[in-house]
Amino acid sequence: MSKIKVRFAPSPTGPLHIGGARSALFNWLYARHHGGTFIVRIEDTDLERSSRESEDNILSALRWLGMDWDEGIEVGGANGPYRQTERLDIYRQYAKKLLEEGHAYYCYCSEEELAAEREELLARGELPRYLGRCRNISDRDRARFEAQGRKPVLRFRVPEGRTVTVHDRVRGEVSFETDGIGDFIIVKSDGIPTYNYAVVIDDFTMGVSHVIRAEEHLSNTPRQILIYNALGWQVPEFAHISLILGKDRSKMSKRHGATSIEQYQRMGYLPEAMVNFLALLGWSPGGEDEIFSLEDIKEQFSLDRVAKSPAVFDMEKLNWLNGHY
Ligand code: GLU
Repeated sequence: MSKIKVRFAPSPTGPLHIGGARSALFNWLYARHHGGTFIVRIEDTDLERSSRESEDNILSALRWLGMDWDEGIEVGGANGPYRQTERLDIYRQYAKKLLEEGHAYYCYCSEEELAAEREELLARGELPRYLGRCRNISDRDRARFEAQGRKPVLRFRVPEGRTVTVHDRVRGEVSFETDGIGDFIIVKSDGIPTYNYAVVIDDFTMGVSHVIRAEEHLSNTPRQILIYNALGWQVPEFAHISLILGKDRSKMSKRHGATSIEQYQRMGYLPEAMVNFLALLGWSPGGEDEIFSLEDIKEQFSLDRVAKSPAVFDMEKLNWLNGHY
């Protein structure tokens, strides 16, 4: 197998949460188990919601839990630090290529036009999506829109009538029909890339071999695969880890316990108990044992033992573990 490189790619829009910490941990464990590389990439393209304060919170929570990283933030090096807002030139360069090769096009549709299209599709009982009105826009119309001061977005041209299959290390093969996707935005009118586009450019140019992340991103994956295909790039391996539910089987929220790592740190929980607890949210080495040091987990970790079924957040278990350290 070629060299393993994984990443944790948080959006700095709030403190590090249980779910994010678990994603970071599984990536870290996978890298450290295989002698690979673990990088942290701050996905700060949501300019309004991103902050340095959140970035600092996330990085210090990772450190508190005992995770270190090899490149990027604070390590520098040829490619670092990894903050998406510092890589806009790279996204621009590949956007130009996609545009020139016909995989992307400028779209001038207004919010009102898009809303009307969405409503029409919903009324027909169809999935709301962009139907490609600007795919073959004439030069005259384009000039007219430019003259009106409309700022275009760049959309990816989704091939019609195809099936995209995600080969997922946890979920198996999951297929999506491209006809349900609709041409999606890759660069917004202010020149800022969208998540689905930036993540592909970054994962490829940074040499990421395995994308291990939360299940909520599974439905984004076909879009990302289409971009890899358009650029003629090899697709990384994917592993989507299951949702974290409360004991009542509803999505984990404040009702089930504190959601940010910082809160547990402040309450006096031990980082050893916390990582032990986080590792067991979806992974288990088999057997009855439940007390594992970070070293133990690192030695035993494998994606094959990551569960497909949702993980259950159990505060009593955390308290029980905390009593053992
Ligand atoms: N920035 C995304 C998030 O925080 C990362 C998703 C990914 O790992 O691709 O959800």
